[in-house]
Amino acid sequence: MKKTYSIAIDGPAGAGKSTIARRMARELGYRYVDTGAIYRTVAYFLDLLGISPKDTDGVERYIDELTVEIRYDEEGAQHMLMNGMDVTSDIRTQDISQKASLVSAQPAVREMLLDMQREVARQHTVVMDGRDIGTVVLPRADVKIFLTASPEVRARRRTDELLAKGQKAEYPRILQEILRRDDQDIHRPIAPLKMARDSVKVDTSELDIDSVVAEILRIVKEKIPQ
Ligand code: C5P
Repeated sequence: MKKTYSIAIDGPAGAGKSTIARRMARELGYRYVDTGAIYRTVAYFLDLLGISPKDTDGVERYIDELTVEIRYDEEGAQHMLMNGMDVTSDIRTQDISQKASLVSAQPAVREMLLDMQREVARQHTVVMDGRDIGTVVLPRADVKIFLTASPEVRARRRTDELLAKGQKAEYPRILQEILRRDDQDIHRPIAPLKMARDSVKVDTSELDIDSVVAEILRIVKEKIPQ
């Protein structure tokens, strides 16, 4: 089988992971895998059933009824299928962000999604973003980047992003939600958000997207034969 390469990009909510990872994937001709979208799909499914993301028994009881699939369209954009239904845009709400963070702390959910993520990276050369890609999902990734930025910068970016899409967004509330999500993601017992020892930290607070992409491409070129 052809050798595949993988680039892991981890970091907190709003650090710019998806924008950067998508750009890198395009520049390198790799497949972009947004793993947060997978957790969001699980959260959305449970939400439709009225199961609280904190209800371990409920999550364990219903999780087997869910099939999650990733599809790519002709433009290479990732789509999420929940039992065959495309929920790509339904999962992009603040409410689902919060519920995804809670549900991702459930061991049954992480276990169910681990093999799925590894299988994609086994079959394709990928740029995969998430919270635990470099530490748990792909501990042998060829390049590991930990992307971060101050909570204030991340909240400002998220607010602007939502406003640009015509959605309602209040900076103080978004900052509070980002801090709450960081706290949950960092302090959960399994696969917490943390930097892998062999990961390169890139702080994007003061950098624009082009500079971050250029910096990461430089790191990639040192580690992966082009
Ligand atoms: O990246 P995104 O904001 O879409 O992720 C939603 C939530 O999914 C995160 O707050 C995190 O708790 C969870 N997640 C995770 N592991 C990943 C990706 C996302 O626990 N690899």
